[in-house]
Amino acid sequence: MIPLKPFFAVALLAAVLFIPDPSLGQSIDVAPDVASASERTPSAKLQVTDVLSARFPVVDVHTHFYVKAKHDPELLDRYVEWMNRNNIAVSVSLDAQLSPRLDSHEEYLWRKYRDRFVLFANIDFQGSGKPDEPSTWACNQDGFVPEVVARLRVEHQRGRISGLKFFKDFGLRWKNRDGSKIRIDDPRWDPIWEVCGRLHLPVLMHTADPSAFFRPIDSHNERETELRAHPDWSFFGEEFPSRPELHAARNRVIARFPGTIFIAAHLGNDGEDLKQLAGWLDEYPNLMVEISSRINELGRQPYRANEFIEKYSDRVFFGTDGPFPEERLRIYWRFLETRDEYFLYSEKSPPPQGDWRIYGLGLSPSTLEKVYSGNAVRVIPGVAARVEKYRSLSNP
Ligand SMILES: [Zn+2]
Repeated sequence: MIPLKPFFAVALLAAVLFIPDPSLGQSIDVAPDVASASERTPSAKLQVTDVLSARFPVVDVHTHFYVKAKHDPELLDRYVEWMNRNNIAVSVSLDAQLSPRLDSHEEYLWRKYRDRFVLFANIDFQGSGKPDEPSTWACNQDGFVPEVVARLRVEHQRGRISGLKFFKDFGLRWKNRDGSKIRIDDPRWDPIWEVCGRLHLPVLMHTADPSAFFRPIDSHNERETELRAHPDWSFFGEEFPSRPELHAARNRVIARFPGTIFIAAHLGNDGEDLKQLAGWLDEYPNLMVEISSRINELGRQPYRANEFIEKYSDRVFFGTDGPFPEERLRIYWRFLETRDEYFLYSEKSPPPQGDWRIYGLGLSPSTLEKVYSGNAVRVIPGVAARVEKYRSLSNP
């Protein structure tokens, strides 16, 4: 009898698996194993242009050398080789936290490559507070904002920081003493916006996220696969402010501080609605945007995206959200410079931000020059001298 036991166990397990769950009222569907649309080989004979290097020197305003690279020294060396091969003059690292990490970040990037990187600071709202007890968080203590302001003045004076970066947690995760979410336009933070304007430090802010992340995770959601793999990326539900509320709170701050430059990260997380984004640019002269991690959005609406970037060419920065491998950098060049059609926006398979392909924008040379570096040279402290030096070394 003993040898039969495993058989019965398997049979029982199979029965449990295939009996419809009465509480659901239906049997469980198993998704058929089909290739995603982006993985199927197109039959159309498509133009493929290899763009090995950007046409003009580039400033990448959105990279993460702590959050993503964890101060890996070999990765940094390799990345600088990619910068050289791809014509990236300067990268902006957004991970210089106003904490002892600023020292290690500076040491990591500037010991060998001071001419190739500038640093944006971020503020540690939680500090050493306990994760589950917002009343202990730094941002809820007296003196937090004056200390941040004083620190920004000192680091600006020392020439270590070129701007300030806010993560999406600002508005979506960080909390007040009573456990409610902090508001982007809470007047407590006003002295921070004010001092950034005085010191000419641009504020790069990630607010909200793609609209799909605020919708239910179901088969109607165009980013379903990704959200199922990363449920913590979903902000659907009453515990989170809505996406329009987050955008409106950010816009109120931009309106209140016209002397401060705000760079809305990832096209203000509104690349899905370029008409609305254009409206914000028209309304707030101190607002600019960068395109990092949004070529998936722009590239599926190439006519409108081309018109948008050409029209607002003085207000759009280049960014990637890297450090990405060289394959990805080259997709950016191909996307911005050519009119190639129906190609993958990522070297990953399936592509990580929606199951579709993109179309190149073929931007005009004058717009490319501004988006690649001209706007960053004008707006971000420390960039002009570095780009100048890069140009003189590459064209002696
Ligand atoms: Zn980022």
